[in-house]
Amino acid sequence: MSKTICLLPGDGIGTEIIAQGRKALEAVARRTGTELVFTEALIGGAAYDATGTPLPRETVDACKASDAVFLGAVGGPKWDALSPDKRPEKGILGIRKELGLFANLRPALLLPELAGACLLKPATAQKGLDLIVVRELTGDIYFGQPRGIEVRDGQRTGFNTMLYSEEEIRRIAIVAFETAMKRKKRVCSIDKSNVLETSRLWREIVTTVHKDYPEVELSHMYVDNAAMQLVRDPSQFDVLLTGNIFGDILSDEAAAITGSLGMLPSASMGQSAPALFEPIHGSAPDIAGQDKANPLATILSAAMLLRLGLDMPTEADLIEKAVSRALAEYRTGDIMEEGKTLVGCEKMGDVVAELIATM
Ligand code: NAD
Repeated sequence: MSKTICLLPGDGIGTEIIAQGRKALEAVARRTGTELVFTEALIGGAAYDATGTPLPRETVDACKASDAVFLGAVGGPKWDALSPDKRPEKGILGIRKELGLFANLRPALLLPELAGACLLKPATAQKGLDLIVVRELTGDIYFGQPRGIEVRDGQRTGFNTMLYSEEEIRRIAIVAFETAMKRKKRVCSIDKSNVLETSRLWREIVTTVHKDYPEVELSHMYVDNAAMQLVRDPSQFDVLLTGNIFGDILSDEAAAITGSLGMLPSASMGQSAPALFEPIHGSAPDIAGQDKANPLATILSAAMLLRLGLDMPTEADLIEKAVSRALAEYRTGDIMEEGKTLVGCEKMGDVVAELIATM
């Protein structure tokens, strides 16, 4: 039975990297006899330029008609002066909402081939880094009402509301425990329950959900300590469960210590398909159109798409193995090391596709 993947290249390097991700998926399809059908739609600045909105209705319909959505990146200086409802980022927030994507999964894995690029002390890096941040995506202070800027006591005052309902906490906790069951069976839940009521409820609900997962070891950690522990000894973590704002910050930190933004994939999931898969980096306008982007985060997102979105773990393994093999010899500029061959975005995509076909 064929599977449909909706491609949303977006802006900047988005088109370059999605082309390489598609190449990898096509190579897997040829190798395994899987039938993958690709559709494509506009999002972000490109969609705004063509239609006047960063998320046209046709894009939402095309995503909903697919089995998985594969996104590049959106944004760039060209659209920075637009009003907030027209900005490219609104396209991403909008599609997450339309598809009900409440869980963001971001693995941070330090591949042995890239140990030299890791920002941690060699002794710490040697202990390894293989964790996944499970971040709630649709609630918290980013969406809570009321919010705004108003004059209070004669001063302009900004305010936002941190808000989580029991159900929102419960469903993301389930995703974290289920994810842990397929890994090392350890969940560390992040909060600030010494200060925030939202966090006190968070801790209480996570502890309750844990009763259904007795095989999983649960610990709790304050977010400030977690930020510190991530650089002191990230090997202690398996699954990090977080709310939206804490996860936003900690997942970028986890990404940065592995060495390159260009290596890290992500998945955003809801209660039902389609889920959305994308690299964690942005549209990198500084290198767009120059064939300099590292396509591996996108190619590894294609692997997540196969594993989590289409339930094809063997096919996903093929891509991940090909990426490891490619890194042994070839590097894009962002992860270049002595003794390796420097290649551009397209060539890296060709190398991975070739390895998928021949490994
Ligand atoms: P960015 O991730 O685009 O770039 C940060 C730095 O990392 C840049 O120097 C860039 O060249 C480099 N970089 C990023 N991806 C790379 C890759 N694959 N290969 C090699 N180098 C890479 O973040 P930014 O500069 O803060 O934002 C640029 C634009 O992207 C902004 O408009 C921002 O709003 C948008 N953005 C979009 C998303 C998304 O689409 N999900 C996420 C973050 C930022």
